[in-house]
Amino acid sequence: MKVVVGLGSCGIAAGAKKVYDELKEQVDQGLDIKLDITGCVGMCHLEPIVDIYYDDGQFDRFVKVKDDEIIDLVNKAKEKNIIEDKKISSEDEEALKKQVRIAIENCGVINPERIEEYIARGGYKALEKCLTQLSQDEIIEEIKISGLRGRGGAGFPTWFKWNAAKVEKETPKYMVCNADEGDPGAFMDRSVLEGDPHRVLEGMIIGGYAIGAQEGIIYVRAEYPLAIKRLEIAIAQAKEKGYLGKNILGTGFNFDIRIKAGAGAFVCGEETALIASLEGERGMPRLKPPFPAQKGYWGKPTNINNVETFANVPWIIRNGGKAFASYGTEKSKGTKVFALTGKIKKGGLVEVPMGMPIKEIIYDIGGGILNNKKFKAVQMGGPSGGCVPAFLEDVTVDYESLTKVGAIMGSGGMVVMDETTCMVDMARFFLDFTRKESCGKCVQCRLGTKRMLEILERIVEGNGREGDIELLERLAVEVKDGSLCGLGQTAPNPVLSTIRYFRDEYEAHIRDKK
Ligand code: SF4
Repeated sequence: MKVVVGLGSCGIAAGAKKVYDELKEQVDQGLDIKLDITGCVGMCHLEPIVDIYYDDGQFDRFVKVKDDEIIDLVNKAKEKNIIEDKKISSEDEEALKKQVRIAIENCGVINPERIEEYIARGGYKALEKCLTQLSQDEIIEEIKISGLRGRGGAGFPTWFKWNAAKVEKETPKYMVCNADEGDPGAFMDRSVLEGDPHRVLEGMIIGGYAIGAQEGIIYVRAEYPLAIKRLEIAIAQAKEKGYLGKNILGTGFNFDIRIKAGAGAFVCGEETALIASLEGERGMPRLKPPFPAQKGYWGKPTNINNVETFANVPWIIRNGGKAFASYGTEKSKGTKVFALTGKIKKGGLVEVPMGMPIKEIIYDIGGGILNNKKFKAVQMGGPSGGCVPAFLEDVTVDYESLTKVGAIMGSGGMVVMDETTCMVDMARFFLDFTRKESCGKCVQCRLGTKRMLEILERIVEGNGREGDIELLERLAVEVKDGSLCGLGQTAPNPVLSTIRYFRDEYEAHIRDKK
């Protein structure tokens, strides 16, 4: 019998490491089970999660398991005497089945610290195919057919970026993975890196081969120590097995990957700021062009994609671009991973086809609003995004539909709010975040967000003035127009979208002064 404990950061925070340690101690003393670990399966609200695989091929999943009940649970399971109230509910199982898992297909399934398990699920097959059967152009064409767009927020076609770097003559070239996930409420990248690090490495090596790079760099937040640890293990294993390093799979292709831990600046998620940080400079964006594809890291052609984008690549190569494009909408193909947080019953990580209505994600997968309160709005795309009110719950999650209603896909954060949430305070929270994270280069971003925050604070505190809403709107336009990078250009979005849909709340705050 194999007992698998979910040891992603969410599981560990909920006590899964204690559950694992308890089991380990018993195994050391002779308990006859095979003990293993896995990453986050996405149901963070049910952690600690323990999966039991019986010798006869049967499987049971137990949830919210405590360290002082695990031994009893396992001993009884050995006799097929299941503690029913610890078993996952059929409703929770259904929520999992409603998803289409491509980027996170291995998360919560394999041991992320063992390359053999990744290989057993088709891992590195896509790389082998690329290196032995496909030309650089054929790989880029397959990515083009898939319709894959950057999952970091901008939604730029991946094939176009790869091709732009590929056609550059200058060498060396670099393939960079942007794992600088810093939006409040977002943990997609962390879960993928912790749960299936080889997947990201494989996507990067394929991308590196396609553009003609020999070096890859993963820029990951230092605040993600477990992700970094698992990446380090994965890199060492991939080298040992010949998937990384010199003469990969005997094809003569050389590609190496190293990790650079970022120092926690949100703005370093912006490509040019990320490159500056990699070069040891302060992480500040610069004007484009030249684009990183022409002059990136140390002035050389550089391609940057985020974690989820790379995680989709091996699947696309294995199954074909058409299979990926069969999911989603006309312009937004494939699936998208979302981090569901806030006032939601079943918070966690979900992957759904593009084009799914927001209400299906919130109710059918997320289980609805916590404490059966009324759904009020959802903040899509973190601090750069906008809020979508409840009456627009039929809007679908794809790049175009979300932009139309004043929100953005962003990297995939979904913060759900209930009827008790003050929308002005919510806008204040996100603007406070972007103001603190502004690098200070542009006056409008540096000072405009500060002025906007001051106005929001006085409104929330009951000291709002006549004309404050209009002033906020004017400043928002100035900040958007006068900012160099995406941080400043999108910083007013939470304010503008809440004014658009919840103007009455702003007015009420100002009217009902202290
Ligand atoms: Fe820096 Fe803001 Fe200007 Fe971006 S918009 S470069 S974060 S000051």
